[in-house]
Amino acid sequence: MSLKGKTAVITGSNSGIGLGVARALAGAGADVVLNSFTDRAEDHALAEALGAEFGVVSRYIRADLSKAEEARGLIEAAGVCDILVNNAGIQHVAPVDEFPIEKWDAILAINLSSAFHTSAIALPMMRKAGWGRIVNIASAHGLTASPFKSAYIAAKHGVVGLTKTVALETAEEAITCNAICPGYVLTPLVEAQIPDQMKVHGMDRETVIREVMLTRQPSKEFATVEQLGGTTVFLCSDAAAQITGTTISVDGGWTAL
Ligand code: NAD
Repeated sequence: MSLKGKTAVITGSNSGIGLGVARALAGAGADVVLNSFTDRAEDHALAEALGAEFGVVSRYIRADLSKAEEARGLIEAAGVCDILVNNAGIQHVAPVDEFPIEKWDAILAINLSSAFHTSAIALPMMRKAGWGRIVNIASAHGLTASPFKSAYIAAKHGVVGLTKTVALETAEEAITCNAICPGYVLTPLVEAQIPDQMKVHGMDRETVIREVMLTRQPSKEFATVEQLGGTTVFLCSDAAAQITGTTISVDGGWTAL
């Protein structure tokens, strides 16, 4: 599978799943745009190193995806976007009646609305190019729920709905839009949830991992960023040209339960 000549924009890609997906797309030959809101020297160095490793053009563009104009500006600054991976996301764990309003607003903005804004700017570029792929990184929590994660689960269910709508609006074009629904992947986002979960459940770290996090993942193994990268590359391939408007679970059997 060669994605040579294609440009991929991956939101939230200076760590975790986004970086794994960027590495897989670059490995398949795509030029890549990395993004986060941080704009540190190491973010630019990361993009440079990735370009050198895979022999592709690799850029870093800062954008705070909690802001509509910056989400739109990211795609405008990229100038071309054949593959859009909406990956940026944050989490906060609290019961509904204690959930901080500003956390709700931030999660909805970053995890859901940013995908609407980037897609809105990328779609005309894809139409002009006559080809496009949108891959939204949703979650098993885009299909099922758990307590204490109201904003995240509402946003991820929203991402699945947005995915279906964009797929229908582009169904007669060479553009597809799908959502990948990972189970637990050990990344900084998951690592950061562990102390909150320990507090909410009153458990130690190992017990939270085994009995809370992986209790619903029948494989009892975390998914890997490489597996998510490989799934994204597949969705960009010709073999996946008729796959649109759907979800692909990479969750060790979670949603089969
Ligand atoms: P991570 O914390 O490692 O990465 C999140 C990325 O989003 C980072 O690059 C961060 O810089 C970026 N980001 C956060 N706020 C931003 C903002 N305002 N503007 C721009 N970028 C911002 O987390 P991860 O685990 O790699 O998660 C990536 C995606 O995968 C998220 O959407 C998450 O919901 C989803 N997901 C993760 C898991 C998991 O187990 N890790 C499971 C299912 C779904």
